[in-house]
Amino acid sequence: MAFEGLTERLQNAMSKLRRKGKISESDLKDVMREIRLALLEADVNFKVVKDFVKTVRERALGSDVLESLTPAQQIVKIVNEELTKLMGEEATPLNKAPKIPTIIMMVGLQGAGKTTTAAKLAKYLKAQEKARPLFIAADVYRPAAIQQLQTVAQQVDTPVFELGTNVDPREIVKQGLAEAAEKKNDYVIIDTAGRLQIDEKLMQELKDIQAIAQPNEILLTVDAMTGQNAVNVAESFNEQLAITGVVLTKLDGDTRGGAALSIRAVTGKPIKFTGQGEKLDALDVFHPDRMANRILGMGDMLTLIEKAQEDYDEKKAAELAEKMQENTFDFNDFIDQLDQVQKMGGIQDILKMMPGMNNVPGLDQIQMGPEEMGHMKAVVYSMTPAERQDPDLLNPSRKRRIAAGSGRPIHEVNRMIKQFMESRKMMSKMSNGNFSGMDQMFGK
Ligand code: GDP
Repeated sequence: MAFEGLTERLQNAMSKLRRKGKISESDLKDVMREIRLALLEADVNFKVVKDFVKTVRERALGSDVLESLTPAQQIVKIVNEELTKLMGEEATPLNKAPKIPTIIMMVGLQGAGKTTTAAKLAKYLKAQEKARPLFIAADVYRPAAIQQLQTVAQQVDTPVFELGTNVDPREIVKQGLAEAAEKKNDYVIIDTAGRLQIDEKLMQELKDIQAIAQPNEILLTVDAMTGQNAVNVAESFNEQLAITGVVLTKLDGDTRGGAALSIRAVTGKPIKFTGQGEKLDALDVFHPDRMANRILGMGDMLTLIEKAQEDYDEKKAAELAEKMQENTFDFNDFIDQLDQVQKMGGIQDILKMMPGMNNVPGLDQIQMGPEEMGHMKAVVYSMTPAERQDPDLLNPSRKRRIAAGSGRPIHEVNRMIKQFMESRKMMSKMSNGNFSGMDQMFGK
């Protein structure tokens, strides 16, 4: 899971503060040192780390944090805000042409995930705006490249314009654009050639294609697993081509996180999407604030809700968000969620998106298979409708009745109800943007 080490180290650094009522300047210095080391270890660019630490320290000193009764929370809040800023504050939408087609040029080194991302993007645009994209196959150097594009294009039901491997890519792009104009495609996605390394010939070709196509968007695909190298690649491409955005792929892997945190600061260009897997629906819009929450182990409820939304109807997801906010999330919703989780698979990843769950020790050991889910459901189904709606009714004698009814031991029933109540409280606080619940997440 991405960012794991970073999250743990940041949480450790800040939980030390929490144990102190009031902190001194030297405590602050210690925690800043640990944050610095955590970021460096996560392979964040050296200069970015230096500036980040300086800003956080200055803000902490300048805002009476040391005098405050809740210094640890204040620092978490500052770190969260600065991480968000570092990654660009708000999600940056795709540039659009004033009239069709919007032209997107995909660039990147070989193996970074360019062709896969092109297909993901087509799928995303079709789902979001019922778009009718056209691919142009402009990688003529790897014989398998066109075929690979055709394979994924077929999976996302999108046509490919290609002229084989014997025509100059500039010519292919010209003819492809003419085809798009004729067929009135609203998006054109150009899959350009990659190389193992940046070289002059490649750059010249890309510059020529840029001049011909005048793309609205030059999206650079970089592999998050390559850390600082991804940042260097982004810097070089940006110098030569003035890219408009980055897609950071393979964020589902075990990356330390350095690229996600450095690219914006180093290149000034936003990460627009992240790739979260090999499947063609594994593309997420990049939200810096949500990513900061995730890095700090504070969960990512919004993405969780959106994931649910893909299967749920919108009304239901909106209701869920409201219930979380109003603290009226009940056991009926919980059962709905369990069913949903089973559908979405990947219980660990889902749990980690929930506030407060990230640092539950031994989360990785949780094997919540169908059997455990079955037990949870049995417990909920042994509640009366009134109890499901109002978990506060659950006094000891009711809990004993539920244990007997569900055939589960009383300690298991107690634990489940307690966890439910705690996560409900946390959801409500987080979805109201209230940071005062945050310290509960650091250190137990
Ligand atoms: P290209 O050479 O840049 O066009 O790269 P490809 O699209 O061929 O991708 C290279 C490999 O990375 C393929 O095996 C893809 O399935 C894989 N890949 C691409 N994006 C992701 C991602 O977000 N996560 C994971 N795990 N694999 C990815």
